Amino acid sequence: MIKHFSSYPLLQHNTFGINVKAAHFVEFTSADDVRDIVPRLGEIRHLVIGGGSNLLFMNDFDGVVLHSAIKGIEVLHEDENYVKVRVGSGINWDEFVAYTVEQGWQGLENLSAIPGEVGASAVQNVGAYGVEAGDFIESVETVSLIDGTAHLFTKKQCAFAYRNSIFKQSEKGKNVVTYVVYKLNRTPRYVLTYGNLREQCEAMGGVNAANIRAAVCATRANKLPDPAIIGSAVSFFMNPVVAADKAAQLKELYPSIPTYPTVTGVKLSVGWMIEQCGWKQRSNSTVGVYPKQALVVVNLGGATGEDIMQYAAMIQKSVAEKFGVSIFPEVNVIE
Ligand SMILES: Cc1cc2nc3c(=O)[nH]c(=O)nc-3n(C[C@H](O)[C@H](O)[C@H](O)COP(=O)(O)OP(=O)(O)OC[C@H]3O[C@@H](n4cnc5c(N)ncnc54)[C@H](O)[C@@H]3O)c2cc1C
Repeated sequence: MIKHFSSYPLLQHNTFGINVKAAHFVEFTSADDVRDIVPRLGEIRHLVIGGGSNLLFMNDFDGVVLHSAIKGIEVLHEDENYVKVRVGSGINWDEFVAYTVEQGWQGLENLSAIPGEVGASAVQNVGAYGVEAGDFIESVETVSLIDGTAHLFTKKQCAFAYRNSIFKQSEKGKNVVTYVVYKLNRTPRYVLTYGNLREQCEAMGGVNAANIRAAVCATRANKLPDPAIIGSAVSFFMNPVVAADKAAQLKELYPSIPTYPTVTGVKLSVGWMIEQCGWKQRSNSTVGVYPKQALVVVNLGGATGEDIMQYAAMIQKSVAEKFGVSIFPEVNVIE
């Protein structure tokens, strides 16, 4: 079923709490609906959104905002080791994670309490506590926004990387994700390397997916702003990855700088760098950084996209001046 609204307020559709409107808002419940919609878009500007938890609107959107309300979790295959499930892109991400934990399907528990929907989990390759969605995605089904044809992207074709995928690179803006197929474990392989997840689980009676989920939810609730109360997209900037010699140079100048070796270089903590530049003490009337985590740029009330980008540009400049490192937004900026 296709629903169409004109002059539609987007305030409830972006966690930054930016008060803008879409000229048209169209919601669909099947891949067939998308195939019907695509030829009607013609040259009209369009944007697919999920829960709006990684978007920053700069202005009213003068085209069509498309939103998936495709639901359903279908088991495609199950054996003693794995289960393969095909999940509608419009399902709330955390409701899906909760369901997997209840079913005893293991893998996604570390990704508990991330806002947004299943479609974007593949676009963004969401990650937390040492796990990324792409680790468990088998394939992604889409409908092309160019010609309305259906496509299946294999895990390899999705080219998952840190908060990245083909849908943010060569396929950016060209597809509506309709379903994501997840391959989850039936024999547990827990990831407990981040934070004190193991200790938290042990205090709750032992390591299992339900306790990991509970620990992650509790830690996140304590550390991160609740979008219902404070507008943000949480990680405003991506953690920069620099060459090993640059990281060594910074370590000499700033011995406490957190560094994480990766296959492509050394990842630095952008939150730490922003804090060192003094941004926790430098909010203005509408924009600031979250007192518990400097990486989180927050809307203190009534901020426009422009206000937030101006503030973010000042942060970028000061990090570049102090550390000689360029940082870039993780959030999708919609002009
Ligand atoms: C409080 C808070 C905590 C967060 N914590 C984390 C975290 O721990 N880890 C993390 O990785 N992220 C985190 N995020 C960021 C955000 O939740 C994720 O990026 C999430 O995947 C965005 O989902 P969404 O449905 O809201 O997508 P949106 O923000 O609506 O869209 C994100 C991108 O995906 C595209 N898109 C969305 N749905 C579809 C679709 N069906 N088809 C095609 N393209 C689509 C959009 O065009 C856009 O480019 C957090 C955000 C907040 C506000």
